[in-house]
Amino acid sequence: MVVGRFAPSPTGPLHLGSLVAAMASYCDAKSRDGAWLVRIEDVDTTRCHASLTRDILQTLQRYQLSWDGEVVIQSQRTASYEAALSQLKALDLAYPCTCSRKEIADTSTRQGIEGHIYPGTCLHHPLKPDTPVAWRFKSPAQMMAFEDRIVGLQQHQMAQEIGDFVIKRADGLFSYQLAVVVDDALQGVTDVVRGADLLNSTTRQCCLQQALGYPTPRYAHVPLVLNVDGQKLSKQTLAAALPTDNLLATLTHAASFLPFFSASVPQFTDVPSFWRWAIDHWQLA
Ligand code: GLU
Ligand code: ZN
Repeated sequence: MVVGRFAPSPTGPLHLGSLVAAMASYCDAKSRDGAWLVRIEDVDTTRCHASLTRDILQTLQRYQLSWDGEVVIQSQRTASYEAALSQLKALDLAYPCTCSRKEIADTSTRQGIEGHIYPGTCLHHPLKPDTPVAWRFKSPAQMMAFEDRIVGLQQHQMAQEIGDFVIKRADGLFSYQLAVVVDDALQGVTDVVRGADLLNSTTRQCCLQQALGYPTPRYAHVPLVLNVDGQKLSKQTLAAALPTDNLLATLTHAASFLPFFSASVPQFTDVPSFWRWAIDHWQLA
């Protein structure tokens, strides 16, 4: 059975870009009689708010994006992430690190896809005493590749382009990369459909899946919605929250960002008929 999911972070209200991602994963799962799950990705408790979680779920209900099963809340699932970290430690695939950002910037000799490549200092030297410890995953010295259903073959030379990445932060919080992999696996997610801003994260997630013995889901990264300045819609770029009225106009507008419907979007008189049409006409090869 197909299992899709929408995994918003409650760092701000849902905006048009969120609706586009939710619509894509919803149509993709429902068009194949699949389940569609909602998971609240609030591992970074320093940036998330419970009131936003309530607001996000209300907005999904308002737009009649109805999910299957219970909503999973990542901040309540620390034990699962801790178990995965223990597994990686036992496999000697995770190691503690006491380097500060500045030390890494000063000692790194290579740039990867997201800035400085961690130079492996803590692999070779004793840890600094009395310093909070982060945990890093040992990136394999090989290429990781996957075939995205929309953008095609994606690959990274893990050690050269990404390096050993943090899976648990020095402040004790688990990283997005580890949490998302554990939850996608434990929830039986078969199809991840999400915004293209996460494309570069996927090879890291595939590495963690292989290390932990999890299957790799299929991935589809949908085009991002950009604002007039060409920036991704987000809390940082002050994206407007989804309106509480004009639902049909907003849904139709969101659908116009998804070139995966087999016909142009007609006019609707009610929200359920929009969703029936969208599910029936979803066509992602
Ligand atoms: N929580 C992530 C976000 O809101 C999405 C994670 C995912 O879909 O894998 O950007
Ligand atoms: Zn270090």
